[in-house]
Amino acid sequence: MYLKSLEINGFKSFAKKAALSFDTPITGIVGPNGSGKSNVAESFRFVLGEQSIKSMRGKRGEDLIWNGADGGGKMNRASVRATFDNSKRLFNIDFDEVSLERVVHRDNTNEYLINGSPARLKDITELLAAAHIGASGHHIISQGEADRILSANIMERREMIEDALGLKIYQYKKIESQRKLEKTEENMKQVESLRREIAPHLKFLKKQVEKIEKAEEMRNELRGIYKEYFKREEDFIRVEKARIIHEKEKPEADARRFDRELVEAKSILEASKNKDAASAELILLENELATCRREKDEFNRKLGGIEGEIAAAHRVIAKEKEKHSKDEFKTVLLKDVEGVAQNIEELGNLTDAKSLFDQVKKLLRTFIASHRDAQDSALIAETEKEIVIMKEKKSALELDLKKISEKETAVEENYHALRQKIESEKDKNRDAEKNMFRIIAAQNEVRTILAQLKSREDIIAATEIAMKREFEEAYMVIGREVSEYQDFVVAGEESRTAQEERRKQIEKLKIRIEDAGGAGSGADVMKEFKETEERDIHLSHELADLEASKASLEKLIADLDARIDFEFKDGILKINAQFQQFFALMFGGGTASLSVVKEKRRKKKSDLDGLIGDDQETNMSDEETEGDEESREGLDISVNLPRKKVKALMMLSGGERALTSIALLFAISQVNPPPFIILDETDAALDEANSRKYGDMIESLSKYSQLILITHNRETMSRAGVLYGVTMGADGASKLLSIQFEEAVKVAK
Ligand code: ATP
Repeated sequence: MYLKSLEINGFKSFAKKAALSFDTPITGIVGPNGSGKSNVAESFRFVLGEQSIKSMRGKRGEDLIWNGADGGGKMNRASVRATFDNSKRLFNIDFDEVSLERVVHRDNTNEYLINGSPARLKDITELLAAAHIGASGHHIISQGEADRILSANIMERREMIEDALGLKIYQYKKIESQRKLEKTEENMKQVESLRREIAPHLKFLKKQVEKIEKAEEMRNELRGIYKEYFKREEDFIRVEKARIIHEKEKPEADARRFDRELVEAKSILEASKNKDAASAELILLENELATCRREKDEFNRKLGGIEGEIAAAHRVIAKEKEKHSKDEFKTVLLKDVEGVAQNIEELGNLTDAKSLFDQVKKLLRTFIASHRDAQDSALIAETEKEIVIMKEKKSALELDLKKISEKETAVEENYHALRQKIESEKDKNRDAEKNMFRIIAAQNEVRTILAQLKSREDIIAATEIAMKREFEEAYMVIGREVSEYQDFVVAGEESRTAQEERRKQIEKLKIRIEDAGGAGSGADVMKEFKETEERDIHLSHELADLEASKASLEKLIADLDARIDFEFKDGILKINAQFQQFFALMFGGGTASLSVVKEKRRKKKSDLDGLIGDDQETNMSDEETEGDEESREGLDISVNLPRKKVKALMMLSGGERALTSIALLFAISQVNPPPFIILDETDAALDEANSRKYGDMIESLSKYSQLILITHNRETMSRAGVLYGVTMGADGASKLLSIQFEEAVKVAK
């Protein structure tokens, strides 16, 4: 016997603490209607973890707590404790006694305790499942539920029997494994999707790595070429520079000399700049000379004129002298006559005519006398005077002439001297000029040579810059190793074109390296590739692990299925044997059995199926349509009452139904006996004869399971070892008391 006691406190109608101990195989609970007997059965369901409040005739958890009555106040909690003997380790915990307790509060919260320690509902359920006790299991038959197994459908029936056969634990394991399998498959999907996510990147990285490796190869090749290239380039630059310096020496010296010579020549020519001044002076002298000559001619002409005039004057004098030897040619000047007349007029104031006359006679005589001689000598004298003046002029002219002649001579001398000088300078310049042209020509020649050298110098400078630039680039592409070119030993001379070819090859390689992913060493990419590859490998291992655990879970599920199937079928065989016996016992013959039947259900058509055309559907054969059905195994009951043709369960009478279900219930309970069975008025519909048979069956059943029977049936009561009476007082609270059979019969009424 496993069940030891039950304590109810505040549960439903049990306001106060009530305790039942189960010391005998059959315990009866009796009492009038509504006293609270069923509440005892429900307190069992409650403590075993029942979650359906409805199955305990309530709506909320609150309904399970003593709600008070006229006499007493409400309770805030309801608790039920069931105590089991665990010395045989019915429950898989290391205690000889196990007590399970459940408390419900008004706020609908629940507490579970195992041996006084808080536990989870799950812990209770698992503990009970392993001991073949389910919360809503087959071993608690509520009032009016005796024929539940008959009215259930084939699948529900199967579940009940699986539960009774103790297959629930496998079902739990199966469900758990299926859940694990789902989780595993989910994880696999995740891992697969991660791998899929990585895959293109990994592929890309792999290609990158290949490119990098290829680039590294090319860089090695480039490194070799570069070393020779730089070495040769450096040598070439050095040699060419030295050559230019040497070749420049002579032309530069020449150029310097020519410069000096040119300066000299120039200074000579510079001096000849005065030539113009001399020429100008020469012209001046020429002009002066011409002026002198002109003046001299003028003086000569004038002199000639004067000399002519003088000769003419002499001829006048001679002519006059000849003429003046005769009076008739003598002449008086009117002016002189007017002068005499004037003088006579001035004598007018004289009154004395004689004196006047005398005076006039005297005046006239004087006048004539003076004019006889005077008039003739005046012309000659005049002319002679003129001659004197002219002679003076002549001598003045002669003096001028002399002067001008002297000046002419002097100017002429100067002119000739200057001319002479100019001529001699001209010769000197001509030589200097010739020299200068020669120097300039030579200078040009030297300059051409120097210009050529300069251009070679420029070229070599550009070559040097280009090399430097190339070196920097090479350093970037190849790294510091490129500096080692100085140690490179070149083999023999070669033409510059070979170096050019080398350069072209370098350019080509550089482009190819660039195309292959740039100049970097790709360390980052390599690292990333390695990491990604490792991650991929790790994921593939993980996937393999998951696949392995999936396979083992699938195997476990298959094993569980096989075990459930085997134990179920085996259980059915055993149940059938018992069922037949109990049935025949109850009905005095007849046959009854359970049979495994397949329930065919049409699978729900998917939306996709709806899209398939009619033609295709009608063309389908029966075989093909069968795939659309899902078949599950359920349990059917077939009965054959003695002397009756009725076979359908539906057509049995209430008593017959009760008997059939009791027979089945007992058969099930015997095959895999639960530790205890609670039957709440299962015997209500039985007549006296059948009550007796029922009593017999109970007794044989009690050998395997403890029985708690709620009953009004006298016969049943008589089979119980201990009887508890339940009464309800005026306060609406149930009370429990252990009573004797006789009392019980009374109480039950
Ligand atoms: P019958 O013989 O007619 O089947 P019974 O003895 O099985 O009756 P129960 O159905 O167990 O009686 O008890 C019902 C009684 O319990 C009712 O009177 C009901 O009022 C009372 N009851 C149920 N829940 C509560 C509660 N939360 N607080 C107080 N009383 C309650």
